[in-house]
Amino acid sequence: MRNVEKRSVMVFLLTLAFFAGLIYHTVNLVMHSAQWVSAPYNAHISDSEGLEYAGKIYDRNGVVLAQTIDKERVYSDDEELRRACLHVVGDDSTNIATAVQTVYRSELTEYNFVFGLGLPESMKQGNDIKLTIDSEMQRAALEALGYNKGAIVFYNYKTGEIVCMVSTPTYDPENIPEDIETNDEYDGAYLNRVLSSAYTPGSTFKLITASAALNELDDAETRSYYCTGEDEVGGREITCFEPNGEVDLREALAQSCNVFFAQLALDIGGDKMTKYAEKAGFNSTLKIDGIETAESVYDVSGASDNDLAWSGVGQYTVLETPINMAVISAAIANGGTPVMPYFIESIGGSKKNSTTLGDRMMDKDTADKLYEMMDHTVEVNYGKYYFSSKYDVCAKTGTAEIGDGVAHAWVTGFCKDEDCPLAFAVIVEGGNSGYGVAIPAATKVLDAAPTF
Ligand SMILES: [Zn+2]
Repeated sequence: MRNVEKRSVMVFLLTLAFFAGLIYHTVNLVMHSAQWVSAPYNAHISDSEGLEYAGKIYDRNGVVLAQTIDKERVYSDDEELRRACLHVVGDDSTNIATAVQTVYRSELTEYNFVFGLGLPESMKQGNDIKLTIDSEMQRAALEALGYNKGAIVFYNYKTGEIVCMVSTPTYDPENIPEDIETNDEYDGAYLNRVLSSAYTPGSTFKLITASAALNELDDAETRSYYCTGEDEVGGREITCFEPNGEVDLREALAQSCNVFFAQLALDIGGDKMTKYAEKAGFNSTLKIDGIETAESVYDVSGASDNDLAWSGVGQYTVLETPINMAVISAAIANGGTPVMPYFIESIGGSKKNSTTLGDRMMDKDTADKLYEMMDHTVEVNYGKYYFSSKYDVCAKTGTAEIGDGVAHAWVTGFCKDEDCPLAFAVIVEGGNSGYGVAIPAATKVLDAAPTF
């Protein structure tokens, strides 16, 4: 009798385990199958076959960027637009890991839970995806970057819509170059540099040092300094591009005085600098439409005093993604809390995103002061008209030294205009001048901006 009882308990437990496992795997299948089927490692769908019945991809104005005709995936008629939108749309392959045709392939092809990919032909029909990007701005950004490598992103800081996201080098998805894997010209061509590359930020990082100083140093707004073009900070020389003369915080940002900001970083200290950098998105990644971005990095552990000083002007080992740079400018435009960017408007007619606030990057008082300082910087240093004849722009440039006399050209900022609430970041690799190269690129894209 005892044995029978024992066996019954065993059978009961085994049955229980069986059903628990069944439920676990069913739930897993329902939740993740669409993801699994579209994963790049699933060979069944990772060639153009997967796009045989895929839906259309549109820009914000209904311009068709990709569609399937007779089982063939075809892109825009306009080669320039195909190249400008490559990193957002993707090509037939899944080489561009962050592109819509890679990440949202199952939604585009409408993977069906019951039939899998094996729906009868007559029933096969993909979902259309509408993006928030604007074809005219895409085209302008590609022209602005020309043959340079770089990245341009503009987004509406009130709604979160990314209206322009262009990365170079790029290529034509209808005519993929044969030497793409070997020619240096195409180095990193599969990367969307807006999301997946992190660069030395140079003087654009002074916004973060200023934010830390305004919170941590009592004399941040009253201290003044006479810049002769170089000075010893943290035991070694720090240099400016030219002597900046008498500066306070506001003028030091406008003139981009390295010595002033290097001294601020040293006075603030590594721990507190790290705290303010992390609040502004450093040492973490962002999620844009479910896509994880590269990490922006601020790490001064083990740094010498002079290294810490250089970190305050965005040199040393500091790294920044263009998308995070744009989010910082959006936070400043929005009183300290950014609206988070996205680029997918709808999938199969259902709205995909809504306006979402990110974590607060700085308090309102600090954001408002930086707003005014970026306004002043354009006014006295770059010239409002040089920046844009159409919009009132607040900005900060950077010329980020990367060695061998080469520097990346940066500019980040936002428009004050109610009808053009755009925040942006532009980087031209090896451009050597934020003022001379990055601003004209930003201006060219702004001139193509729609009204909102
Ligand atoms: Zn200086």
